[in-house]
Amino acid sequence: MNPYTTLGSGLDTHEAKALGARLSSWHDAMVAHERRLRTAATRDGCDDECPHAEARTLWSEAVATFGARAQELIFLRSRAQDTHGARNRGPRRGSGHI
Ligand SMILES: [Zn+2]
Repeated sequence: MNPYTTLGSGLDTHEAKALGARLSSWHDAMVAHERRLRTAATRDGCDDECPHAEARTLWSEAVATFGARAQELIFLRSRAQDTHGARNRGPRRGSGHI
């Protein structure tokens, strides 16, 4: 099951289908990217081209296109809201406040 193409086909518009396809290829890229980050000896974070940067763009497109149903895309949502990256290293972020 692919939640991205399922959401896209449920709406039956060209835009939603195209976004669904983009989201599912993003998902594969993100999974591979996270695997690489986990196994890399150095964890220097990500460059600007990594799927983390794309997550935020895709998330706002998903919200605009799918509306409330975008909330079903938990993987995308969590990555879009994750501020992980080279520029955010340092002390642990506290939970609950920004
Ligand atoms: Zn990244």
